[in-house]
Amino acid sequence: MDHIRLRFWGVRGSIACAGKDYERYGGNTPCVEAAVGKRTLIFDAGTGIRPLGDKLAAQGLRDVDLFLSHTHLDHIVGLPFFSLFFDPQNTIRLWAGHLFETGGIESVLHTMMADPLFPVDPKIFAARVEHHDFKAGAVLHPFEEVRVETQPLNHPSGATGYRVCCGPSSFAYVTDHEPRDAHPDPAIVALAKGADYLITDTSYTDEEYEARRGWGHASWRQGLAIAKAAGTKTLVLFHHDPSHPDDVMARIEEQAVAEGKRCGVAVFAAREGMELTL
Ligand SMILES: [Zn+2]
Ligand SMILES: [Zn+2]
Repeated sequence: MDHIRLRFWGVRGSIACAGKDYERYGGNTPCVEAAVGKRTLIFDAGTGIRPLGDKLAAQGLRDVDLFLSHTHLDHIVGLPFFSLFFDPQNTIRLWAGHLFETGGIESVLHTMMADPLFPVDPKIFAARVEHHDFKAGAVLHPFEEVRVETQPLNHPSGATGYRVCCGPSSFAYVTDHEPRDAHPDPAIVALAKGADYLITDTSYTDEEYEARRGWGHASWRQGLAIAKAAGTKTLVLFHHDPSHPDDVMARIEEQAVAEGKRCGVAVFAAREGMELTL
């Protein structure tokens, strides 16, 4: 059975951050690569997808499944710069679960890549692009060895959480999401149940969360509550707020690790370039 190899190409939420204060954790917006055997799945197309595309093109990869959590700009802004779109030998399957009833992913792409927001439209893509809109909650089988479970998330204009299963290995990718009340949502707990890793939205500290209720994001403590309820082995802090440079992130990570120890959950913060094998 093939392993899942994860690599983080973008871990920052909301907007990309540059400069020396963002070097340790990284400044690119969400993009996670999951390699299973010879196949590659990608989660989100933030600014991190640009270097990932260059690597995959250099490797000669011809076929990729790209799953979008949703279409807020920080999760799709890298799409027009994804190298694999520009080779007619390539096939890219774009998956989205929040637009099934509102026009689909293709029309959103045409809206984003249109004058005067962007100089060229998606017709510039030479690759074969398949648009797979589904209703969040569906179970997907992008290829034989892999099963992808999905759930709708609580986020303005909707978002989709994913769980990728390959043999005994699994991880959940749940961003952007705000718990509906004081307890973790049962459907999200079920999605993350017993997973090796839960990568989830932990944008805020407790204090920041109180000031930003309803914005569609979570605190690290709320992320930890999901991991604890789900019996997830490891919580990966993700979608780091732009107002958290490296020194702030290090303090948050230290607190979350200590609190995780108290409830039996291993915790670390995602960093750009980090690789995990499941
Ligand atoms: Zn976001
Ligand atoms: Zn969002």
